[in-house]
Amino acid sequence: MDGLTGLLNRRAFETRLHEVWEAAATTGGEVGLLFIDVDEFKAFNDFYGHQAGDEVLRQVARLLDAHTRATADIAARYGGEEFLVLMPGCSRHAALERAERLRAGIEAACMEHAASPVQGCVTVSIGLATQHPASGVDPAALVRAADEALYAAKAAGRNRVMMPSA
Ligand code: GH3
Ligand code: MG
Ligand code: MG
Repeated sequence: MDGLTGLLNRRAFETRLHEVWEAAATTGGEVGLLFIDVDEFKAFNDFYGHQAGDEVLRQVARLLDAHTRATADIAARYGGEEFLVLMPGCSRHAALERAERLRAGIEAACMEHAASPVQGCVTVSIGLATQHPASGVDPAALVRAADEALYAAKAAGRNRVMMPSA
């Protein structure tokens, strides 16, 4: 468990990812993954202090937890201001909808971030990837694909969801 947020930590997440991956490889299901990164978080810490930054991470974690509770989705803190949501049995379309709802929910929580060039509240960028797992294939490729989509979301201006074009 991650000490700050109470979410799964990276190691626990990797274990769950392998389990979900192998199960989906057996059933032929699709697996979605969100790579979530708080926007302009260094500026937040510089402006409000590290403790206030920690509180933002806890609040983001609470929102992720609330959003994933009604589904089989699994939220984790990957490290720093980066979070993951694993979505077993989730189609690309459904994953995109959930990602957008999550992004909008964090924006709507309106945690003040006066130092952000994006807008006056804390926002996140989200990279989304979905794959049909094959047994024995390393699920790290799914994480990489979501991370690449996140990079594109940052480059496109932040506070948005992006996925690789199909
Ligand atoms: P971007 O929009 O491109 O993501 O910019 P950024 O400033 O969010 O990204 P950058 O990687 O430059 O900075 C991440 C910051 O996150 C720097 C680091 O101090 C802060 N951070 C990482 N872990 C923690 C933590 O546990 N608590 C707090 N308060 N800050 C953290
Ligand atoms: Mg980051
Ligand atoms: Mg960031």
